[in-house]
Amino acid sequence: MNILVVNAGSSSLKYQLIDSDTNVVSAKGLCERIGLEGSLIEHKQLIKGLKVKYESPMKDHADAMKLVVKYLTDAEYGCIADMSEIQAIGHRIVHGGHFFSKSILMTKDVLAKLELCKEFAPLHTVAHLMGIKGCLDTMPSTPQVLVFDTAFHQTMAPEAYMYALPYEYYEKYGLRRYGFHGSSHRYVSAEMAKLLDKPVEDTKIVTCHIGNGSSVSAVKGGKVMDTSMGFTPLAGVEMGTRCGDIDPAIVPFIMDKEGLTAAQVNDVMNKKSGFLGITGYSSDSRDVENAILAGPSDPNYEKAVLAVDILKHQLKKYIGGYAAIMNGLDAVVFTAGIGENSSILRELVCSDMENLGIELDKDANQKAFRLSDSAKISKDTSKVAVYVIPTNEELVIAKDTAEIVSAL
Ligand code: AMP
Repeated sequence: MNILVVNAGSSSLKYQLIDSDTNVVSAKGLCERIGLEGSLIEHKQLIKGLKVKYESPMKDHADAMKLVVKYLTDAEYGCIADMSEIQAIGHRIVHGGHFFSKSILMTKDVLAKLELCKEFAPLHTVAHLMGIKGCLDTMPSTPQVLVFDTAFHQTMAPEAYMYALPYEYYEKYGLRRYGFHGSSHRYVSAEMAKLLDKPVEDTKIVTCHIGNGSSVSAVKGGKVMDTSMGFTPLAGVEMGTRCGDIDPAIVPFIMDKEGLTAAQVNDVMNKKSGFLGITGYSSDSRDVENAILAGPSDPNYEKAVLAVDILKHQLKKYIGGYAAIMNGLDAVVFTAGIGENSSILRELVCSDMENLGIELDKDANQKAFRLSDSAKISKDTSKVAVYVIPTNEELVIAKDTAEIVSAL
């Protein structure tokens, strides 16, 4: 089944055309600057290996979708004859609140509930709604399915998702841990479970999705027991520009000392912290690692080491803590931009963890870079298997969409 996977941002729209039976991606691309000057589409036809960039005004997501369909059906750059060959559309939705615990067919009722999710993730939800409307305008009879980043984490018990705040905040505002990157944690934990020689129900896996945004999950028996992100994607480990977990009393302290509003502190914690905040020069782990590799003579060396050491320390704490709550650990998985590519970080995290049963194979770890398939990076003697598994959130979205649409 040909599934068009759509990831709509406020001024962007990413897409992939995936055959859900063969897992082949025949085209993918990105519409940028939607609703702004200089909007453009970058389209790749992956079967023929062709690429095209085209500037064209796009006043909204419906205009963007028209261009996507134009390129997917283009005589030269396309891969389908007409849009009737797209059997369904699967949308990546960042926040499903407590309304959605699994992927769902888009209906009027579902859209009304998604509207309520604006409360939790205003910018993302508004963008998703625009993406859905854009698809409705362009392909009104094509079924659409919503796949939520929060859904996989809905198996957490109240002890894991509740904050010890006045209970009425949970009742009034839905204030609780939701967790994010769910499709990624779901994909890599399922792949890891297949690699372990035991029934899924018996598996205890920690998945580390480490990219520009990062989160760690404890997945026991195929179900999430806990995850590091919280009410918002700001919580958990240090990220590119996000601070992760801090003492909450720091917020009023900074507001007072720096004369900032709540919105301004929120901005500092989301956009000016993490690797960027510590190093003062970059949120990109490649820049940070280059300073480390350059050695102590590099002016950025010390801060770069500190930025990576903070993340290493936090990841060790999460892995150890999650092994404790699962009462054991079979495997640790690294995924996403940094997890898949940074042997430096993986080595730092997995060193001095023998007591927990983790023994890294340093050579295998060095070689695990830009992989298209899973790679084992632990020694054969390691009690805990450590793997690098390239994530594939789009495939999860395509598969869920196909499953729901096939049952119609
Ligand atoms: P993501 O959010 O998953 O796209 O990941 C983005 C992060 O991955 C950025 O910090 C990149 O610097 C990092 N990244 C991508 N490729 C590499 C690499 N080859 N080595 C280290 N970090 C990388």
